[in-house]
Amino acid sequence: MANRPDLKTLSVHAGEELDEEFGAIAPPLILASSFAVHPDAVGFSAYDYEDQAPYFYSRWSNPTVRRLERKLAALEGAGDGVCFASGMAAISGLLLHKLSAGDHLVLSNACYAAVAELAHDTLPRMGIEASAVDTSDLAAVEAALRPTTKLIYIETPCNPILRLADVQAIAALAKARGAELAVDSTIATPLGLQPIALGADYVVHSLTKYLCGHGDALGGVVLGAADKIDGLRKESLVHLGGLLGAFDAWLILRSLHSLPARMAAHQAGAAEVAAYLEAHPRIERVLYPGLASHPQHTLAKSQMSNASGLLAFTARDGAALARRLAERLEVFTYAVSLGKSKSLIFYIPTDDIQRTSFRLSEADLAAYRAWAGEGVFRVSVGLERAEDLIADLEKALAD
Ligand code: PLP
Repeated sequence: MANRPDLKTLSVHAGEELDEEFGAIAPPLILASSFAVHPDAVGFSAYDYEDQAPYFYSRWSNPTVRRLERKLAALEGAGDGVCFASGMAAISGLLLHKLSAGDHLVLSNACYAAVAELAHDTLPRMGIEASAVDTSDLAAVEAALRPTTKLIYIETPCNPILRLADVQAIAALAKARGAELAVDSTIATPLGLQPIALGADYVVHSLTKYLCGHGDALGGVVLGAADKIDGLRKESLVHLGGLLGAFDAWLILRSLHSLPARMAAHQAGAAEVAAYLEAHPRIERVLYPGLASHPQHTLAKSQMSNASGLLAFTARDGAALARRLAERLEVFTYAVSLGKSKSLIFYIPTDDIQRTSFRLSEADLAAYRAWAGEGVFRVSVGLERAEDLIADLEKALAD
């Protein structure tokens, strides 16, 4: 990593060589489904598509999307990347590409809800077994490994409870046991965490969140070694078809120019809001990796270079407080998602996420409740002035 240009410079320049036709300083938006080719240059099937082949059909690759893939690969120090229509398309594409009937997956037992549902409901129908464990506990990860374990899939920090996993330690474990490690780094972003440098095989992002940052596009990416990404493109993108549209890619490409500046501002705002909430008598617990009170703050400090803008808190009578906040907040918006310029807040009751998504064992549910109580308010601190966010919360929390 020492010889790589700074992420600020890469965020602006990587993947953005000057447009040769017009010399435009912004990347061209190529809205073409297919491209004129010579019959000797490409075959008809993805299996015949060579790395250096010209653009052919936008489900394979598109020049605007390709620029985004190159920029993201540079930011993560990965060989290559392939973009998808959403974070879930990227995750399901990776899992379906890597896992076959008889294979075993180990994943975080607290993670983005749709990933838990995919692992509990969809993968078993294909003969793929999944074990959901607390990936903040290295011994639990190790105990879950089987000879058939092909992939360990972690989210750090995880949605919605901001629990961390030690990427370097889990990568070493995966390697020793002949498995691969994929890290969903959506919440950390490349500014906060560099999973490939820590030994991960794949990094996954929902581009919909910080990497887009403005709440106007959805997308996903998987990054890793170039040969592995090539196989993923051919199967999960070409055959399953969940491609990222060129316009969304262009929006995200442009947004990435400001990612380092935005993440610095998100982190600074979140630190102020977290400190305010931690001192508020109505709030029971605040979970933010940047706070000294976070149970894994030491790991956060050693593994992350930006604590991001997402925090969670617990409070008595969460459901009633959620209604009150939705009605009273004016700067925050009561909405799902995270990582946007606008601050968002959303309540996730433990009973609901347990029933619909996590389906934890009794012991794991007790551990989840010890961390997240009866539910967490997920707070995505945007780019507004922190004093305005705090004043908004103060007014809404007052009796
Ligand atoms: N991973 C994480 C950590 C997320 O928070 C989300 C969405 O909230 C996803 C993946 C899925 O991304 P998308 O909504 O772009 O499909």
